[in-house]
Amino acid sequence: MTAQYRMRGDVAVLVPAAGLGLRLGPGAPKALRLLGGEPLLVHAVRGLAVAPSVGCIVVAAPPDAVDQVHALLDPVAPVVVVPGGQTREQSVAAALARVPDRFEIVLVHDAARALAPSDLVERVAATVRAGARAVIPVLPVVDTIKEVDPDGVVIGTVDRSVLRAVQTPQGFRRSTLVAAHAASTDPTGATDDAGLVEKIGVPVATVPGDEAALKITRPFDLAVAELLLRRTLAG
Ligand code: C5P
Repeated sequence: MTAQYRMRGDVAVLVPAAGLGLRLGPGAPKALRLLGGEPLLVHAVRGLAVAPSVGCIVVAAPPDAVDQVHALLDPVAPVVVVPGGQTREQSVAAALARVPDRFEIVLVHDAARALAPSDLVERVAATVRAGARAVIPVLPVVDTIKEVDPDGVVIGTVDRSVLRAVQTPQGFRRSTLVAAHAASTDPTGATDDAGLVEKIGVPVATVPGDEAALKITRPFDLAVAELLLRRTLAG
């Protein structure tokens, strides 16, 4: 079968997609939940495969769904599928180990951000190409943020002007991402890769994120993503 997209860029993208997605409620692993009739992972991989910078995609799938995920993605793009681990960090490390040597720029993109536009992928890739060792897309925080004690009583108000909400894809020099994963010691795993890079003292740059790259975590997010998709398809 011929894949819909061929990829010729200089960037490898890792897609951790092995989470169960329990916050979405009972059902298939999150990456295989349907959005507009297609699994989230298919949307995510298609969004990456159309980005001109992308030359390789490695997906970390739920270990018992590797063949299923491969069959699902084969018509979309020529991806490598590996079994994911017990934490997101382990899934990223498993995918990173399979990136061909020629790729010096590596992006990490959560399957849960299924509608990230390809110009966001390009913005992140271009910033690494221009010299950043690590870069993350961010959005300003719009809510007022409070710090609370274990009983939920307010301790204080955080200055939101210095806060940013972080998205994926996050971009790295490959050597930086490899060093950050090698140095990681937290058994519960990092929730993002830039967090590991910060710990080894490498500066992390930021670029503007995109609201369409929302993380589909709860049923409400899935409903929002359905609306976004319909709006995009309506042109
Ligand atoms: O759980 P969370 O929403 O933070 O997961 C973020 C991303 O990491 C999701 O795309 C999920 O599939 C992936 N993940 C993974 N392996 C795990 C846990 C999460 O690939 N063990």
